[in-house]
Parts: sequence; C-alpha cells; structure tokens
Amino acid sequence: MNQYLTFDEIQNKCSLLSERYEIDEEKFYQIVEKWAERHVSIEEKILNSFTELLQMVSDEINSMEQTVNMEATCRLGCAFCCYFPIIINEMEAKIMKKAMEKFPEQRKNKIKKHLASYYEKYGEVLEQITAVDFEEDGDFKHKYRKSLVPCPLLDTKTNQCMAYEIRPIPCRTYVNYTNPDVCEQNLMPKETVSFEFLYEQYMGALNEFMQFLYEEGDTAFVNYPDDVYTTDYLANWLRPV
Ligand code: SF4
Repeated sequence: MNQYLTFDEIQNKCSLLSERYEIDEEKFYQIVEKWAERHVSIEEKILNSFTELLQMVSDEINSMEQTVNMEATCRLGCAFCCYFPIIINEMEAKIMKKAMEKFPEQRKNKIKKHLASYYEKYGEVLEQITAVDFEEDGDFKHKYRKSLVPCPLLDTKTNQCMAYEIRPIPCRTYVNYTNPDVCEQNLMPKETVSFEFLYEQYMGALNEFMQFLYEEGDTAFVNYPDDVYTTDYLANWLRPV
C-alpha cells in the first residue's frame, strides 16, 4: 500500500534526487540512432522514435523514484490533472495525430466520435480559454484549470486517457506523492511534482533526428523546422478541421 509523503518529505526527496541522480542522456539518443538505421519508412521511423522517447521519459521517472524510494500515489481513474492546459508544438501534434490514425479501427472511430461531441460541447468556452496567451500570461494555467474543461482526449466516463501510450510530456511528468485528495481539493495543488525538465532530453533527441532526416531530404508529414517552433494548446491542435 502507498505511503503518503508530506510536502516537506517530497521537497527533501527532490533535493536528494538532484544530488544523487544523473539523467542518462545517451539512452535518448540511442533510440533515434537505432531508428535512423532501420530499413523502414520515414513515417515509421518518426512514429517509433516518438513513442519510445516518450516511454523513456516515463522510465527515467521510474528510475528517479526508485533512487529516492518514492512511489506515485496517482490512481487509475483519477484525472484532475487532465483539466490543465497541455501545450505542445506542431511537430508533436502531427506525430500524435498520425499515431492515432494507426490505432485499430474501432479505437480510432471512438476517438473521432468523442472529439466531434467534445468540440460541440466545449467549443465556445475553449475559444475563450485558448485565447489566453500562454507565452505572455503567467496565470494561464490557473485560468484554464478553473474553467473545468477536460482535455479533448479524456474519456470523462472512465476518467482514462484515450491515447495513453502517446500522451504528451506534461501529462507523464506531473506526479503526486502525497494524498491524492490534494488534486481533488485544489485547482493547483502545491504538493505535486513536475519532471518536465526531461523535455530537454526528449526534444533534444527528437529534434536532432528530425534535423538528420531534413538533411537527408525527407521529413515525411512533418514540416521541419517550422513545426518545432509553432506551439499551441492541445485542444487547438485536435480540433477537427
Ligand atoms: S492527453 Fe491524456 S493524460 Fe494528457 S491531459 Fe489529455 S487525457 Fe490527460
């Protein structure tokens, strides 16, 4: 059974982590080097690198947790963090959409139907909350969170992510180690931990790979480098056109 850490204990473990843990950046680059050499289509190289890099971020978090002996208290079916704004770049959004196109027919159709009714229901409020400039407004997270609009990929009946294995970095790097009730009781709980710094290794390797493909003359469905520099809310990227 999980032990709930106190806020101070979490803080202490995080400082211990920065003393004891070194991120193995090489592991990220090994993924893209492996796919660069594989004799598969460019699309497959990109999709597989992306999925494995995301998984590597989760694996790194697991290793960090083991190092300082802490265990996430996030529970299946708890999805308060899926009401935060998720910001990703256009390259990530295009890869996510391409990966979802490869889902089995039934799963794909379910997501398509879900997104259609989602945008019908939340379209108007989304217009307002995504009009907040996340680069300029330091309070954008709170403004978005308090609107209580779920992520477009959250199945609100089961409280599960419909694209769990390809969920973006902010989703997999936000973790709770104390009583999960803090997420229910606070819009912006202070106790949660963010491992979002792992974005650097993930995007560093992905970007280097795309640059390599660009120099080779084929980046498939990605418009490199422009797509890397265009960022927006996930809710905007997934809006059916
Ligand atoms: S992508 Fe999935 S995990 Fe991330 S906020 Fe949306 S529903 Fe939650």
